[in-house]
Amino acid sequence: MSTLPAKGSPDVMGTTSVTLAPIIKTQFARRIIHGGRGLTERKECWGAETTDGVWSFDREDSPGTPWLVYHQPSVKDGSLTTPVSLQGSLRACRWYVAMGWAEADLERLLAHEQGEHAGERDPRCVKC
Ligand SMILES: [Zn+2]
Repeated sequence: MSTLPAKGSPDVMGTTSVTLAPIIKTQFARRIIHGGRGLTERKECWGAETTDGVWSFDREDSPGTPWLVYHQPSVKDGSLTTPVSLQGSLRACRWYVAMGWAEADLERLLAHEQGEHAGERDPRCVKC
């Protein structure tokens, strides 16, 4: 049985089986108005989180900076307060979560923090 991709569904890397993680945008840049004219064309988004509140994404208020991916439960309990990853766009962040890569990287980072890589370095760990 083949399923046709839903109208408007993403087709990244030839896969339509995973949908982007749903998000809520939480922070927007202020529009710059000068002399009654908007200098910025659209409202840029600088912060968002997944609708389940597990992952949050934010970036510095300047062009070209990466998005930082945080795992909220780990930030709250203090087990991992640094970003799990850097991504190039908010869309990339949503894929990163949807594909399960965020969870995999989180587990690797937590294992590193707990000293599990002390004896043998994990080649996929960014901290080793
Ligand atoms: Zn490690």
